Amino acid sequence: MIGLGLLVFAGAAHNLQFGQLDIRFYLLAIITVAGTSRLAVRIPGIGGRITVSDTLVYLTVLLYGGEAAIVVAALEGMTSSRRISRKPLTIFFNASVMAFSLMTAVSMVRLFFGRTVETPPHFLSGRLLGGLVVLSLIQYLINSWLISIDRSLKAGSPLLVTWKQHYLWPSLTYFAGAFAAGAVARLIGDFGFFPVFLTMPVIAIVYFTYRTYMNSVATAEEQAERAELSIEEKQRHISELEGVRKELQESREYFRHASLHDMLTGLPNRALLTDRLEQSINRARRHKGHLFAVLFLDLDRFKVINDSLGHAAGDELLVTIAKRLKDCLRASDTVARLGGDEFAIVLDDIEGTYAALHTAERLQIEVNRPVWLEGEEVVTTASIGIALNLPGYDNPESILRDADSAMYQAKQNGKARHELFDKSMHTRAVMLMKLETQLRRALARNEFFLCYQPIVSLDEGLIRGFEALIRWRHPEHGVLPPSEFISVAEEAGLSSNIGAWVLAEACNQMVKWRDRGLADCFVSVNLSGNHFKHSGLVRRVGQILEQTALDPGLLHLEITESVVMENAERACVTLNELRALGVHLSIDDFGTGYSSLSYLARFPINRLKIDRSFIGDMVTSDETLEVVRAIVTLAASLSIDVVAEGVETHEQKRLLQAMKVKYAQGFLFFQPLECQHVDELLASCEPLHLAERKTLPLVEIPYTQIQSAAVN
Ligand code: C2E
Ligand code: CA
Ligand code: CA
Repeated sequence: MIGLGLLVFAGAAHNLQFGQLDIRFYLLAIITVAGTSRLAVRIPGIGGRITVSDTLVYLTVLLYGGEAAIVVAALEGMTSSRRISRKPLTIFFNASVMAFSLMTAVSMVRLFFGRTVETPPHFLSGRLLGGLVVLSLIQYLINSWLISIDRSLKAGSPLLVTWKQHYLWPSLTYFAGAFAAGAVARLIGDFGFFPVFLTMPVIAIVYFTYRTYMNSVATAEEQAERAELSIEEKQRHISELEGVRKELQESREYFRHASLHDMLTGLPNRALLTDRLEQSINRARRHKGHLFAVLFLDLDRFKVINDSLGHAAGDELLVTIAKRLKDCLRASDTVARLGGDEFAIVLDDIEGTYAALHTAERLQIEVNRPVWLEGEEVVTTASIGIALNLPGYDNPESILRDADSAMYQAKQNGKARHELFDKSMHTRAVMLMKLETQLRRALARNEFFLCYQPIVSLDEGLIRGFEALIRWRHPEHGVLPPSEFISVAEEAGLSSNIGAWVLAEACNQMVKWRDRGLADCFVSVNLSGNHFKHSGLVRRVGQILEQTALDPGLLHLEITESVVMENAERACVTLNELRALGVHLSIDDFGTGYSSLSYLARFPINRLKIDRSFIGDMVTSDETLEVVRAIVTLAASLSIDVVAEGVETHEQKRLLQAMKVKYAQGFLFFQPLECQHVDELLASCEPLHLAERKTLPLVEIPYTQIQSAAVN
């Protein structure tokens, strides 16, 4: 293309008749080349422009002929390209395209119209107009296609698409430029070159004024657009803020509701209950005769259901019960969930005690209705404690506490029932509280001691071990049995500490007796539920064994059936860890809980202790005897030893012997003995310390005789 351009340029320059060129030509050429391509007038509405340089090139064609215009166009092409690109190739290419296209256009005009178009016209004849159309059309087509080819080759895009996209509209520039040139040529013809030329500065001023005006219009438009945008943005901000405010209010309401309600059941929680109770107390104070009651309701078997069917089922049960309670009460009553399976109900404005008792009965019937959980029919019961505002309580806590005491009493009396609070319960509650405080000090004050009840082997007639049983030498109440304080200790979170003391004390004592010749005798230690579940238990047992150097096989740990079955999976892990220490394991009070036989087979147990209630009833009830026989058979099939607890009569002993029960424990043989009595027993069985006498002989002391010897 550049070669072609050079040829065209050289040809034009060669054919140019320099003699015909005058000062006006040079003026025109300088103005054209010097940068008129930068000046353009936008054609309103279509985005096309009239470039002054194009107009001047066409004007040159009209005034000085094609050759002069080609030279000027080529030069103008170079200067205008230089402003866009610094690459010589591009500059020369563009200049060449300009020269070539103009040359072709001029040739075509000459072909159709001869040279008439290039002689200065004095009017805009049809011929001139036709010539201008052909000139601009041909130049436009060649120009645009050549540049499109170059562009599409570089970009690798389809030629037609490139042309349409970039060069369809610029055609206007050419036509407009050509007609503007025609008009100027006409003016020059009418008024002469210089007058028209001198109007150029005026035109320039008009042009720049116009441009400035257009620019300011554009700026104003831009500003307006920006202002509009900022208004829109502000409106958006405002609506966003509005949204945030709404959300805040909603979340405030949510939290207010959440802070006063139980998440699971949606019932009021303790905080809201306290508030309602305060209102009731105030109302009762203002109006004599206004009576209200608080019912404290606790589900009886919730834990078992929760553990066996899973937490989701437990939750479902609570939601169902909550709904039933709510549905069977008046709207003015309040049902609250206090946590776990505990609910409290405020019956406002009741007629008397009878109304409260009647409602409690209704609630119990509602709770009693079966619930379907995980495809199983589950039946629960509730224990309810009732406190009436008869004495006139002055704070919510005390009436709630009394209802709680009454509920506790209902549980003690066999569950699935309700109890009305009376003063004696309060006394008991106060006593329990005191007991708890004293229990906390008992360990430090060394008030606990252990009794040892011998466990005998029925076939050999020998003492094979001892069960360590705790006692509390209470400063005011004398010696207390465990039934008086173990559950309080458990609730107060003290059982693990006490349990650890029992373990250490029992092991130490066994080591002392071992050193006195009592070899091969085991000691059985009871583990409370919380102690068994305590994470540090296994480590503690290991430490004690290490410190006392007791043969681990001589330490037996007793865990009640209900504790083990409460969470059988976890219990299994702990039992295995304990077993790994070498200690033996017994299931205590067997028969009172609900053992799953599959678990029983999996547990690493050494012994089952049949609960003494079975042993007691066995003689009079054939059914119980069969139960005992079944347990013994089961244990034999699992290769587990059996200990019969609470053997009090010879008849019981005989039956057990007939069933080949290995061990027995009970008042028939020994009561729990204080240490010194065991010492005396050991002394009476001299020579115990001799190595060959490894076990104590069985002493069948009559029940009455031993009572004086044993504590309790
Ligand atoms: P247990 O583990 O079943 O212990 C046997 C209980 O039965 C003892 O009551 C014992 O005195 C009593 N007993 C033994 N033979 C007979 C008999 O022939 N007839 C009758 N009627 N009773 C007999 P104790 O010592 O009052 O202990 C009661 C419960 O307290 C124990 O039941 C045990 O569960 C718990 N306990 C005792 N000591 C401890 C301890 O150190 N830690 C823990 N966590 N619990 C203990
Ligand atoms: Ca026991
Ligand atoms: Ca027992």
